Amino acid sequence: MEVFPGVFQLKVPIPNNPLGHLNSYLIRGDKGCLLIDAGWNTEDAFQALHGQLESLGLGFRDIAVVIVTHVHPDHYGLAGRIKQISPTRFAFHIWEKALIESRYVHFSELQRKIGHFLRRHGVPVDIADPLEKASLPALDFVTVAWPDEVLYGGENFAFGEFEFEVLWTPGHSPGHVCLYEPTKKILFSGDHVLPTITPNVSYHLQSGSNPLGDFINSLHQVQRLPVSLILPAHEDIFTDLAARVDEIIHHHEDRKQRILEALDRGPKTAYSIAKQLTWNVPGNKLLRLEALQQRFAVMETLSHLELLRMEGQVERASHDGVWWYGLCSPR
Ligand SMILES: [Zn+2]
Ligand SMILES: [Zn+2]
Repeated sequence: MEVFPGVFQLKVPIPNNPLGHLNSYLIRGDKGCLLIDAGWNTEDAFQALHGQLESLGLGFRDIAVVIVTHVHPDHYGLAGRIKQISPTRFAFHIWEKALIESRYVHFSELQRKIGHFLRRHGVPVDIADPLEKASLPALDFVTVAWPDEVLYGGENFAFGEFEFEVLWTPGHSPGHVCLYEPTKKILFSGDHVLPTITPNVSYHLQSGSNPLGDFINSLHQVQRLPVSLILPAHEDIFTDLAARVDEIIHHHEDRKQRILEALDRGPKTAYSIAKQLTWNVPGNKLLRLEALQQRFAVMETLSHLELLRMEGQVERASHDGVWWYGLCSPR
């Protein structure tokens, strides 16, 4: 479907996931096409992409460049397979490149440390074990490939009729990028800004010390851009970026307040706070979520707690190897 003159949206199915599909975007240039995000590497996804390319009179060999907004499996997984069968060049942010080896190649060390991290934040031993292993099935859907070029943010490049600016927008992932076309007033927002759901922002071993602070800064970075069309990696294309950014910031402010309320009754671990909150994924309450979603929920609670700690509202103390968070002063 041509969603903007010269921009085609391709829908790539994601298995067993409420999101349903990834939006991949294809732009025709003089020497082949640019693809923004690729999808999981499943046979269904591969065939779906192949079929949609064919309907445009194209094949995988016509993809000259793939830019991956970040290396989550639903954006990056299929890109390696495309590279195996075509002379495609790859580009993504340098911090995303730094994640590949530990996540997708020699992953057992990181996995073990995630288990330790979860127990340290109050997850009971019998629950921490399945949460530690919850990301392993996704490895089957990723074909590892390294970038031919790394992005830093701030680059400008021309492709066909388009003049892009690379925006580094960390938060959902440390090296997430958006692509901005100032003349045409369009923004390819990846998972950074989605029209109705909020992307997971987790504090974890590879997130940096304040991922939610990074995310809010990255939202402010794009909020006032003069854009008339936002092309996200999931859900539908939308138009009012400033209003959507306000909603997302409000959502996180509200969540911070709920966490402070939970701490009014005394210090808690991230795990026990995550159990009190309501989560906008199937199940809603922590113990009814799927294992990977439980892990995201605990780590997202932590991203709020660590932001509150940076702001001087919350402090943490270690007792018997477990971190407890409490209010710095009674409210
Ligand atoms: Zn993502
Ligand atoms: Zn995604």
